[in-house]
Amino acid sequence: MWRLPRALCVHAAKTSKLPGPWSRPAAFMSTLLINQPQYAWLKELGLREENEGVYNGSWGGRGEVITTYCPANNEPIARVRQASVADYEETVKKAKEAWKIWADVSLEMGKILVEGVGEVQEYVDICDYAVGLSRMIGGPILPSERPGHALIEQWNPVGLVGIITAFNFPVAVYGWNNAIAMICGNVCLWKGAPTTSLISVAVTKIIAKVLEDNKLPGAICSLTCGGADIGTAMAKDEQVNLLSFTGSTQVGKQVALMVQERFGRSLLELGGNNAIIAFEDADLSLVVPSALFAAVGTAGQRCTTARRLVMDRPGNYVEPTIVIGLAHDASIAHTETFAPILYVFKFKNEEEVFAWNNEVKQGLSSSIFTKDLGRIFRWLGPKGSDCGIVNVNIPTSGAEIGGAFGGEKHTGGGRESGSDAWKHYMRRSTCTINYSKDLPLAQGIKFQ
Ligand code: NAD
Repeated sequence: MWRLPRALCVHAAKTSKLPGPWSRPAAFMSTLLINQPQYAWLKELGLREENEGVYNGSWGGRGEVITTYCPANNEPIARVRQASVADYEETVKKAKEAWKIWADVSLEMGKILVEGVGEVQEYVDICDYAVGLSRMIGGPILPSERPGHALIEQWNPVGLVGIITAFNFPVAVYGWNNAIAMICGNVCLWKGAPTTSLISVAVTKIIAKVLEDNKLPGAICSLTCGGADIGTAMAKDEQVNLLSFTGSTQVGKQVALMVQERFGRSLLELGGNNAIIAFEDADLSLVVPSALFAAVGTAGQRCTTARRLVMDRPGNYVEPTIVIGLAHDASIAHTETFAPILYVFKFKNEEEVFAWNNEVKQGLSSSIFTKDLGRIFRWLGPKGSDCGIVNVNIPTSGAEIGGAFGGEKHTGGGRESGSDAWKHYMRRSTCTINYSKDLPLAQGIKFQ
């Protein structure tokens, strides 16, 4: 059995564990990558040396200026002026105003033209998916037990969806939330990770243009770049009708408690600690590349646990590492390392290894490799994997947008993207309509 770190990382370093921006050598500050000819494409995205990190129909920002860095070698890319709490409050007000228009508008959300790989492609895919989905969401008409009555389930938008995203998936996670929330009739307010503020600005510039070209209020898709202060304001704010949070279990727990305190709604996508189980009948030509893709393809790092970190060359890299000889329940193996570190265990039988898969606190993704049909169905069943993503003969990573994405236990229980994940973004009303001249009560009660 291999236990894998979460596999959706596109960032090579968790920069929050690196020296803070202000402690970097001054030489870095003078040579922003954005001014170098090979990075001219950054300007084509509308980015400048200093960028405003607040968008609510117009651009602004009165918070601190941060520099964003290339995670591989710490070179400064450009600067972003973050949101102040006053910017945040003004933006929520404008988004709420914009909702009055958006809730009544039916606009085909066009495909973003940028052809790319990975995350950007996923945003494009989810836009396509959401446009189709917008013609299919709705509730059933249920049979009423009362004569002359209709029982209808009506779904309405929640209003303002706050979206807080993690550094390691700085485009697609917003895309999953943004596209589905919008076709449900909601407006969005996004706060990405501070280390990926430039990406948040670049993506919002694309969306802002679509809205403005269609003469719609830009605040429909607002942005407040910022850190924990803005995130906390969103979590505590009763005007944020749904808070979708993607990030670590540790921060997610704080956010969940703040939202619960106000009886708000949250959608949590938190840490994972994912296992691949290879049985003796597994096809090794599938297992080996799958394990490699899922383990080494995961470039994200949590520096606190990267004990095998190699810094004998410039830059921030974790050497892919295989660890053997640990007990299956060693505390390090139960911790999401967020680095390409792979723990390998030998197991005796199916019952034992299914239990090992489930014994960690997280419950995101899991895979087995086998040709045994009975075992496959036991893996999918009540005594099989307890994860939100349960795979057979494919790696733990690389989910498709058509299915609901998310996990159980300390992964938070939320679901995003496909299937019926849209229900998170709407409120349900059960409506009973009496079209008769009588007033029969439910359960046949005679109230005399
Ligand atoms: P993080 O928890 O450090 O930060 C996530 C977001 O929370 C950032 O935008 C951050 O600014 C914000 N934040 C920080 N303090 C806050 C507070 N007090 N209130 C509100 N918001 C606050 O996570 P990270 O290091 O950026 O990302 C890595 C983690 O995210 C890993 O644990 C990874 O597994 C998880 N993740 C999960 C999924 C998923 O779909 N389950 C996807 C991507 C990442």
